[in-house]
Order: sequence, then C-alpha cells, then structure tokens
Amino acid sequence: MISVEKARQTILAHFQQLDIEKVNILDALNRVAGEDILAVHHIPPADNSAMDGYAVRHMDTKSATKAKPVRLAIIEDIRAGIVSGKNLQRGEAARIMTGAIIPQGADAVVRQEDCLRDGQTVSICVTVKKDQDIRFAGEDVKKGELVIPRGTIIKPAVIGMLASLGYASIQVHQRPRVAIMATGDELVDIQVNPPRGKIVNSNSYALAAQVSACGGIPVMLGIAGDKKAELKKKLKKALNADLIISSGGVSVGDFDFVKDVMQEIGNSMYFWQVAMRPGKPLAFGAVEGVPLFGLPGNPVSVMVSFEQFVRPALLKMQGHSKIFRQTIKAVNAREFKKKAGIRHFIRAIIRKQKDKYIVSTTGEQGSGILQSMVLANGLIIIDEKTTLVKKGDLVNVQLLDDSVFLSEKFMAKVKL
Ligand code: AMP
Ligand code: MG
Repeated sequence: MISVEKARQTILAHFQQLDIEKVNILDALNRVAGEDILAVHHIPPADNSAMDGYAVRHMDTKSATKAKPVRLAIIEDIRAGIVSGKNLQRGEAARIMTGAIIPQGADAVVRQEDCLRDGQTVSICVTVKKDQDIRFAGEDVKKGELVIPRGTIIKPAVIGMLASLGYASIQVHQRPRVAIMATGDELVDIQVNPPRGKIVNSNSYALAAQVSACGGIPVMLGIAGDKKAELKKKLKKALNADLIISSGGVSVGDFDFVKDVMQEIGNSMYFWQVAMRPGKPLAFGAVEGVPLFGLPGNPVSVMVSFEQFVRPALLKMQGHSKIFRQTIKAVNAREFKKKAGIRHFIRAIIRKQKDKYIVSTTGEQGSGILQSMVLANGLIIIDEKTTLVKKGDLVNVQLLDDSVFLSEKFMAKVKL
C-alpha cells in the first residue's frame, strides 16, 4: 500500500502533454493555448471617438461655458466605419459617432450632452482638454505585444481578444481520448430493467461526465463480465485511447481479475492499493503502453479516485499548469471519527458564513452511498494519523466546484 502522494507522483510521471492541434476559436473554450499569440495590429487600430458628440480643436473651447458657449461651424458628419478626408481648421467641428475615426486636425471630442446644435453650427458649452474622449490606437493592445502566452486557459474574453486580432483559429493542446470500461457480472446496460441480482452500470456514466468536465473525450466501452477473457477482449478495443479507466474488479474478491489481466497482457502494474478511503484498492498500470487506471467499483470510490488521480493526469495532458483542486481551511461543524493509518476524503458541504468557511459532512459515508457525492461540494481531507475530528476543528477541504463562493444569502436558503 502506498501513500496518496506517492500514487499521484507515480501516476503523473506516466503522462506528458499531448501534441497541439489547430481549432476554430469557437471550439477553443476552456482549452489551453499551445502557441504564443502576438498582436498583429494595434487595438484599437486607429484613434477614435469614445462618445457621440463633436470632434474639435480643444483650444477653440478654452472660453466655452454654458452661459457663454463657443459657436463652431460643422464641416461634416462622421459615422462609425467612415474615414474623413478633411482636415479640421480653427473654428470648425465635425459631428462624430462613437467608434468613428478622429479627423485630422481635431484633438478632442465634446460630448453631445455638452453641445447645442443649430443647423450647421454647434454651440459648445464646456471647455475640453486635449485628448478628451479620444480612444488612442494601441491603448488596449500594442502591435507586436504578447497578448496570450502559450499555456493560457481560453476563457470567453480570450476568444474575444483572438477575434479582435483576426485570429479565426488557434493552436491548443489535444483533448485526451479516455476509454471507460465497467466490470462486473452483476451489471446491466442502462436500457435494461435490471432483474433481481443485477444493477445498472452507473460508474461509466459518472466517469464519462467527470472526463468531459475536465476536457477529455469519453469513449464508452460498456461492460465486461468477471472473466479474464472478457476483460482482455474489451481492453484490446481500447488501445487507440490515450488512457483507459476501468471500474470494479480490483479488490480481493474471487472474481476481481483486473490486476491479473494488467500483469498478463501488459506485465506492467505500477502499484496496487493506496492508503486512502474511499478508494483503497486502486491499481495503476498499462496495457501495451496505454495507461490503465483500475479504479475500485463502489460508486463513491470511483468518483473520489477520479478526482484525486485521473483528473490531474487529464489536465496535465491538456497543458494545464494548475492541475489540482483548490483546498481551503474550514471550521468543522459536526464531530466525526476515522480510522488511523489512511487518509480520508469525507464528502462534505462547505459554505461561507460571515468571514468563515463552515463544513459539515453529508452524513452516511459508505462508499456505496452515491447520494453523498450528489450533495457534496467538497471533500474534507483528514490525514493518516488523526482519528477524531471535533466540532470547531479547522480542517482542509478540497473544493469540487465553485458553489462555496455563492452569496451567503443564497446559501442561507439551503437547509444544512
Ligand atoms: P467490485 O470492486 O467489483 O467488487 O465492486 C464493488 C461494488 O461496486 C459492488 O457492490 C459492485 O456491484 C459495485 N459496482 C461495480 N461496478 C459498478 C458499476 N459500473 N456501476 C455501479 N456499481 C458498480
Ligand atoms: Mg466486481
């Protein structure tokens, strides 16, 4: 049996970043940039008006007040998208719309609200400074600037930035293809109404969702019965995947053959059993060079093991630098006990109360109680030595989502 750290370290050493591929920017959301993006032009590309109003020479407005406005002659109307060919002289103004290019000669814009138009003249009622309400070329991004460094996670604003620079596609790290196999003679497909003694294969679905949630492409292999030949046959079909996840059949039962198969076809099982609960019987190895996670069968163990070991590997493959979930300190609300010698990952609900985070277990912690994962937004992590966690103790909580950051008012509505 090895520690959680040792297991993580061994696993991560077997995964490298995948190659990059070019994708349309609409397909790039949440992926990781595989190239540096430089600005091919300024943004904005030219000096333009920040307001609807009048382009002027600021010196002409020096004495302007509401009581004694300055009258200027309007020489033209400049709409957004139109470039003026004129050169504005003293005593002149140009009607201008937001986003339109500032005409030559003008050095400020007077907002419409500060002007009174009268036919082809305009009365300016305020003094404006040089450059007022002009957006300058390159004030957002300068030509040649490194705007999106390789390794950036592509969020919507990044897609907006790529578009404004004219990039319709970008190089990103490939998404790993993850083959998912369930094992167990008791399992039936979701379409089947399970007869007595059988249950629906739910692990493959939970795993597929976890794979998708962190950017991977799930490939469903279905169910293999508890026979070595069946397991081998299914695994052979998975060899074009980047990695394989199986669930069940790695414990000490008479029909738990995943470990044997790993040895027989790959002769490469790197470890079996991790000092943790849930998830102890995890086996990690490879089949013909394709990494294989033999996750335990219990529905909670599957999901918790995925979180601790598979998710970081998938994120690493996709070029992420932050591959572990955030952990925060919280005040424990309900006393509970645990076994010595192994690390516990306790399903919990964490919430913010005033300036503190409070965490309560979801109740029954059996590794078959999937409801505990449905309710949880975090996992309390209790180290190997500890056996009793008291009310009021400060504990580490691994966040499974962002719900703890929801407003206190919203959380108050949820009975905990
Ligand atoms: P095992 O490690 O194969 O003995 O499985 C442990 C427990 O998890 C058993 O109660 C299994 O019925 C259950 N189990 C295994 N695989 C699945 C699955 N794919 N979906 C739901 N439950 C499963
Ligand atoms: Mg089984």
